[in-house]
Amino acid sequence: MSLRPVTVAGVEFGGPRPVLIAGPCAVEDEEMLDRCARAAVSAGASMLRGGAFKPRTSPYKFQGLGLEGLRMLASVRSSLGIPVVSEVMSADMIGPVSEAADMLQVGSRNMHNSALLTELGRCGRPVLLKRGFMATIEEWLLAAEYLINEGNDRVVLCERGIRTIEPWTRNTLDLAAIVIARRKAGFPVIADPCHAAGRRDLVEPLSKACLAAGADGLMIEIHPDPARALSDGDQSLDLEAFSKLAAEMRPAGGWA
Ligand code: PEP
Ligand code: MN
Repeated sequence: MSLRPVTVAGVEFGGPRPVLIAGPCAVEDEEMLDRCARAAVSAGASMLRGGAFKPRTSPYKFQGLGLEGLRMLASVRSSLGIPVVSEVMSADMIGPVSEAADMLQVGSRNMHNSALLTELGRCGRPVLLKRGFMATIEEWLLAAEYLINEGNDRVVLCERGIRTIEPWTRNTLDLAAIVIARRKAGFPVIADPCHAAGRRDLVEPLSKACLAAGADGLMIEIHPDPARALSDGDQSLDLEAFSKLAAEMRPAGGWA
């Protein structure tokens, strides 16, 4: 199937240039978000990420700032003019997240939530659909069909690693899935090497591998002080390492 590009606030996924999305795992406060967003802008990144609602495995860990986090995202988006992608965990939050974000992210833990997918199919906003960490490629593509069947064909897929027997990485990056999903679904596919690896030393080599396999972009977690991050610090790049990666990997015509 031929690939249909998806344009989000002027950023083209599936076009000639790969997309670079960067930002913190979670919005923690105004200052750190602002520093991450400035680092993303100066690295030439296409979009800013940041979760206000965090689907944590443990209920005892930071769950995100919620509506307050959305307010911070909206404010940095309007001051810096960088488009935003942020996760929505429930149908009742589609409206509020849509006010702060240009693209709505469905997380790995919600990929199987058909009620949420159905509502997102009706919302008229582009969706970044992450692969469930226990989902086959077919299940992931069927999840995308919930969106399409409701009339939303502005779908971008994100490979973020799957659970395997391997304990030395958080998940196992499935490079073949990038190739197969692009071919079969006709949607752009980006990759999230941070959640795949769970460790920052693998982010750069895996990023290169993803683009070599044909990924339409990358999503990278960054933090001004990863050791103090409230979530996913081990897999987040500090701002300096990120700007180095973005510069070294910068494609000929720049990021999308
Ligand atoms: C995230 O992007 O921060 C996230 C929670 O990712 P995933 O849903 O892939 O675990
Ligand atoms: Mn994360």
